[in-house]
Amino acid sequence: MIGENLKTVEAEICSSCRRASRNRDEVTLIAVSKTMPVSMLKEAYAEGVRDFGENKVQELMDKIPQLPADVRWHMIGHLQRNKVKYIVDKVSLIHSVDSLRLAEEISQEASKKGITANILIEVNVAGEESKFGTTVEEACSLVESIAKLPAISVKGLMTIAPYTESPEDNRHYFHRLKQLSVDIQQKNIDNVNMATLSMGMTGDFPVAIEEGATYVRIGTGIFGERDYQ
Ligand SMILES: *Cc1c(COP(=O)(O)O)cnc(C)c1O
Repeated sequence: MIGENLKTVEAEICSSCRRASRNRDEVTLIAVSKTMPVSMLKEAYAEGVRDFGENKVQELMDKIPQLPADVRWHMIGHLQRNKVKYIVDKVSLIHSVDSLRLAEEISQEASKKGITANILIEVNVAGEESKFGTTVEEACSLVESIAKLPAISVKGLMTIAPYTESPEDNRHYFHRLKQLSVDIQQKNIDNVNMATLSMGMTGDFPVAIEEGATYVRIGTGIFGERDYQ
């Protein structure tokens, strides 16, 4: 099942890239494996997947030692400051940084371990109350403050668009995030690069790719429905 699903997703990524006149290698697929058993991650790995997304620290810590070392782990969920120390040197990118306090903690823990942490700034583009993320208006000044921290490298922006039945509804949110990244890039802030845009999930990733996504985060489309019981 996972192999077939991956083929379907891959074909859709390719056709979205073609429609947008983008190269396939500009977009990286993150297989969002939260709640899924390790056996399913191993199946995806065997099919060639190397980027996995998880949203809970405990689950990441359980799964990381059970998969080969060349997996790139992405922390895509809300991160509590007291848990940063467990994963800062184990994930390749933290997608969900939305406050200076969290960034300070990440920088401090990364320093202790002698590394630089790669992060994205999460922006709540649609302004949904239920979601984490900084606002579009505050994003730039947050980036400027975070960029001054010693052990952090800002790589771009991330957003979680609203749940919708019709992906076209989210196009303007993706467009807005892309625009914001261009605006911030133009400020030439030291230690800040806006090349990475993490946006698009199972329901709307083709539109996100058309609007400039460089990472798409796909769970259900690869592993099937999640069971939260
Ligand atoms: C769960 C999750 C996804 C994947 O969602 P699907 O709709 O299953 O593809 C993507 N991004 C984040 C931040 C998530 O928490």
